[in-house]
Amino acid sequence: MEKNINFLIDHQCPQCGAPAALSETDRLFQCAFCKVNSYLVERSYFRYLLPHNAPDGQELIYFPYWRFKGMVFSCLPTGIQNRFLDVSQQAVQSTHFPVSVGLRSQAMKLRFVSPETKGWFIKPHLPFRQVMEAFLTRYNSKIPGPILHQSHIGESLSLIYAPFYVGKRIMDAVLNQPVSAELDESFEVSRFSGGPADWRIRFIPTLCPNCGWDMQGRRDALVLHCKNCESMWQASKQGMSRINVAHLPNHENENTIYLPFWRIKAEVTGIDLSSYADLVKAANLPKAIQPGWDRIPCHFWGPAFKIRPKSFLRLTRQITLSQPRNDLIAHVPKGNMHPVNLPVSESVETLKLNLAGLLRPKKIVEERITDIRVKPSRYLLAYLPFEIHHHDLVQPTFNIAVNQNQLGLAGNL
Ligand SMILES: [Zn+2]
Ligand SMILES: [Zn+2]
Repeated sequence: MEKNINFLIDHQCPQCGAPAALSETDRLFQCAFCKVNSYLVERSYFRYLLPHNAPDGQELIYFPYWRFKGMVFSCLPTGIQNRFLDVSQQAVQSTHFPVSVGLRSQAMKLRFVSPETKGWFIKPHLPFRQVMEAFLTRYNSKIPGPILHQSHIGESLSLIYAPFYVGKRIMDAVLNQPVSAELDESFEVSRFSGGPADWRIRFIPTLCPNCGWDMQGRRDALVLHCKNCESMWQASKQGMSRINVAHLPNHENENTIYLPFWRIKAEVTGIDLSSYADLVKAANLPKAIQPGWDRIPCHFWGPAFKIRPKSFLRLTRQITLSQPRNDLIAHVPKGNMHPVNLPVSESVETLKLNLAGLLRPKKIVEERITDIRVKPSRYLLAYLPFEIHHHDLVQPTFNIAVNQNQLGLAGNL
């Protein structure tokens, strides 16, 4: 169940057709042959298929599976528990097909689904949320409860189509092995709704919409940086859209890296948390509330990069309690920047968890968390400078350290 698979995807350059192998988390693709950059855009999620090895002449059926890879945080009376998950589950309920994609996919390369693929694609019937809930119900039965709150942060959510064909039994078209008992007359594939593939991966150019410069980023970057006009962009349905950026300048140390954080403004109901004074009270910080603190807005902060679950939680709490605000400059920082590879859409999933992690005394969480609602309204991408030490990255103003391994390994989680 927790096999931690990093899929490779066989792909062709949209510009020159040269073959390429992508990793699941790749967004920025630079062709090794024609050097053209393009950016992969998902329509809600990526759709992949497992290539088949079926004998010639078989009519292929592609059965859909949801795949979730990411972290699940469970808020218990004793504290927050985390777990890394990599699971797949039927997107259509059927006793004839395997329940999950299975381990065979570990060694296999995937392809993007495209209209050129021959076969009958069964339409996903169960929404991802429902599948995830069913999965969590099973998973939660093993946790000593009560579970006060739970949130998951997806590193990837995709739909994987596995190929089959029908004879006397349903045959797995990857392994050419039967996966069902002998079928009786009543089985008809046409009872599943579906049709030919009508979906294609989209690419958009990486040119800055503001000045036309070819933008840069790491393969898994979710935010692209135009070094010419100093702007930052993220892909959306409409193409590239500009995002608001700020940073805390670093004056003293040359040996620094800027780590990206999402700063999120949210409406909180069920507990007072609109100002810094409210935060000091809610978290029971050892500070005397100063005049004016009730007029300083309180923001949620969280890493905009992948990091191991324990560090994710700790960083989230420490930065939110620090509330960086003085000297924030509304500008892209100059210098070394760590790429953004955790989207704000996932970060907002953790706001309530973030809140649960900082409330004091802890029994307040148990008493009130179910009544608390957190609704995000605005966000900002904020870079904070961290000094590079031997093992750690250290934020000197707020005295926060991150082990470099926690960052480096996160890509291969
Ligand atoms: Zn090319
Ligand atoms: Zn530009």
